[in-house]
Amino acid sequence: MHIPTDLFIGGTWVESPDRVPVLDPATGAPIASVSLAGDADITLAVEAAADAAAPWAATPPRDRAELLRRAFELMTQRGRALAELITRENGKVLADAQAEVTYAAEFFRWFSEEATRIRGDYRLAPSGDKHIVVTHDPIGVSLLVTPWNFPAAMVTRKIAPALAAGCTVVLKPALETPLTALAIAAVLEEAGVPAGVVNVVLASPAGPPVRAMLRDARVRHLSFTGSTGVGSHLLREAASQVLRCSMELGGNAPFLVLEGADVRAAVDGALIAKLRNGGAACTAANRFYVHESLAAEFTANLSAAMAKLRCGPGLAGDSQLGALASPGERDKVAALVEQAIAEGARPRAGARTPEGPGAFYPATVLDEVPRDASILGVEIFGPVAPIVTVSDEDEAVALANGTEFGLAGYVYASDIGAGLRVAERLSSGMVAVNRGTLSDPAAPFGGVKQSGLGREGGLDGVHEFLETKYIAV
Ligand code: NAD
Repeated sequence: MHIPTDLFIGGTWVESPDRVPVLDPATGAPIASVSLAGDADITLAVEAAADAAAPWAATPPRDRAELLRRAFELMTQRGRALAELITRENGKVLADAQAEVTYAAEFFRWFSEEATRIRGDYRLAPSGDKHIVVTHDPIGVSLLVTPWNFPAAMVTRKIAPALAAGCTVVLKPALETPLTALAIAAVLEEAGVPAGVVNVVLASPAGPPVRAMLRDARVRHLSFTGSTGVGSHLLREAASQVLRCSMELGGNAPFLVLEGADVRAAVDGALIAKLRNGGAACTAANRFYVHESLAAEFTANLSAAMAKLRCGPGLAGDSQLGALASPGERDKVAALVEQAIAEGARPRAGARTPEGPGAFYPATVLDEVPRDASILGVEIFGPVAPIVTVSDEDEAVALANGTEFGLAGYVYASDIGAGLRVAERLSSGMVAVNRGTLSDPAAPFGGVKQSGLGREGGLDGVHEFLETKYIAV
């Protein structure tokens, strides 16, 4: 598979003299260098997206759908090569990367199906004096900003609904993992995307390009996935043009094990909810609240399972836990664990940074974590499970909701009724009952409180890219 390393603007690959290396987090070694966009490239990308907006909006939905379907098929055919690329630039184990490619490609298929189902409304006004006609029209040029933790899925989860809706885009992926985004642009190019409909620019987060695009009146929408801190900063920037904003931000997911739950199932679910993507997922279980009658068994079994996991390069067949995205990410996780131990938590597995190269950190369990420990208030973004014992459901729910985040939550309960009752009480956009995963392209993904605004995927995802218009007749 050819992997481009330049910018994709107006249907052309544009090389820039300014290049930065992409590093393999498992070794720290460079694997490629990519072009960085200059001011002129940013202007050209917005111009290309703006010029392509009207023709793309006028393209029959069936044609847009078929393009997305071809992208799904090409991505699926290239699944193995794309997964290896993700592992090389992100560090996650190959199995996680393969699961990500499947998930990412599915957004192209799901939104190819949705492209032809965008509905309006036509009815008589209650007064009988007119007809109310409601249409949903493409919003125009959308700026997409994505993180490094799911370098493929976060890109397709935005590009697919945008194209289905009839919007054109400028994508700025994270500079830690640009190659996957460029490989997806190449897939779209091969699928026949018209020039200017999809543009990819690479830029350092510290630089002015995102701000310049947010100030350009031709950009009408910002779709951002990343941390709450950067998201709220960009919301302020976006206010100057009163942009529509879709924000998928940080999480601090609670994992509740209620009285009477099946401990073995809860441990299996915890391993998935905690360790998928090495813990670097916005939906990752971040705090474990376990009923006192089950806490000893749950902690012992989870610790035994986590201690057995082999940590190593993601492409090595026997690795079960890959590298974190960078040494800086690893050091952040290690510092949180050290601080938790200083605050009174007891390490039951892992908790020690291994010697040698690569951004590795072992699967770690902490118990007896004080309720006010700092690790419970932040997104860990690593393979660390802090456990707190609780005495009843009300206490578990109160602790679970005691955060400014509200993205995902997990509940293990004795029966579906108890699970549903507690799921309804959690302040979060998504809750999994008696299971360790919840992401699905066909379901609405998103958070409440400081975890974001809007939803991606499902029936709602395409509406982030549509404006509602009312015509009185
Ligand atoms: P981040 O906020 O640091 O960066 C996200 C993107 O914004 C990157 O493209 C980055 O280059 C860019 N960026 C950073 N600072 C910027 C600035 N000042 N101006 C303009 N652009 C800037 O996030 P990250 O570290 O890449 O990703 C991890 C975060 O993403 C976590 O908080 C995680 O929860 C969140 N996330 C959320 C979801 C979700 O769907 N809710 C999904 C994945 C990741």
